[in-house]
Amino acid sequence: MTVIRVHTAGFCMGVGLALHKLEQEIETRKHTAAKGRLVMLGPIIHNPQVLSAYAAQGVIQADTLDEIHAGDTVIIRAHGIPRPDEEKLRELGALIVDATCPKVKKAQLAIADATAGGTPLYLFGEEYHPEVRGLISYAAGTCKVFGNLAELQRIDLQTGSRAVLAAQTTQDRAEFEAIRRWLEDRLDLTVLSTICDATRKRQQETQDVASQVQAMIVVGGRSSGNTRRLVDVARGCGIPVWHIETAEELSLPDIAAYDLIGITAGASTPHKLVDDVQNLLETLHQTNEKPSAH
Ligand code: SF4
Repeated sequence: MTVIRVHTAGFCMGVGLALHKLEQEIETRKHTAAKGRLVMLGPIIHNPQVLSAYAAQGVIQADTLDEIHAGDTVIIRAHGIPRPDEEKLRELGALIVDATCPKVKKAQLAIADATAGGTPLYLFGEEYHPEVRGLISYAAGTCKVFGNLAELQRIDLQTGSRAVLAAQTTQDRAEFEAIRRWLEDRLDLTVLSTICDATRKRQQETQDVASQVQAMIVVGGRSSGNTRRLVDVARGCGIPVWHIETAEELSLPDIAAYDLIGITAGASTPHKLVDDVQNLLETLHQTNEKPSAH
């Protein structure tokens, strides 16, 4: 059996940095007498194995601001949080470790700057996604969120008026370009370049590998949206696809029927979990090898 691993499988830069900050905080606490709790506001990553490991090290997960106490150290995750929530954390007396991805932070600040005079914002993204809730909180004027060009076309526009266009970092670049062209014909538009290519590259590479192999394994949390999208991309190539969280879930008799297998993983999957799957497949390969004749 030959195994092809997608190069971009696993953590993107933003998730890697956020986890690094959390781990630094855990490490510092081992050597100091920090009194308050260490709290992540929402799951720092959509991966149950990683979250359990942090919980075992004393990291608490809070899902709302009501659960935060004075003196807590609060980690802000890679998606960022709305500006008023950050202010509330400070009022509550929490210490903030800002692990917002630098690209998301840059998008937040660019929106604040471009809309400073009250210019309306048009944001291409998923309305209830935490990153979008954070981005729109930086807009100084009104804000319209839409998920695609067709939705945008249903919004009433004041032709010729000034506006700012931005996107959630993980949105599709081709759709964004179509949106930009359509809006530029109607509005006096300032366009912010906020899309991050990490997701697109991982999906593209997954599709490239899936089109070369007989079956594909996607490693990542079942609640991770970007991992599930990789499953769809691989299935679109018409091959069997297994979505697993850990190597233990692999059905070895099913896998052993294939000679060429691909592995990919979502942005919230640690490399160690992908290594475990790869090592297991390679062990299977060695076990299946016929002894050479001498
Ligand atoms: S996908 Fe891009 S913008 Fe989003 S967290 Fe990762 S590096 Fe940052």
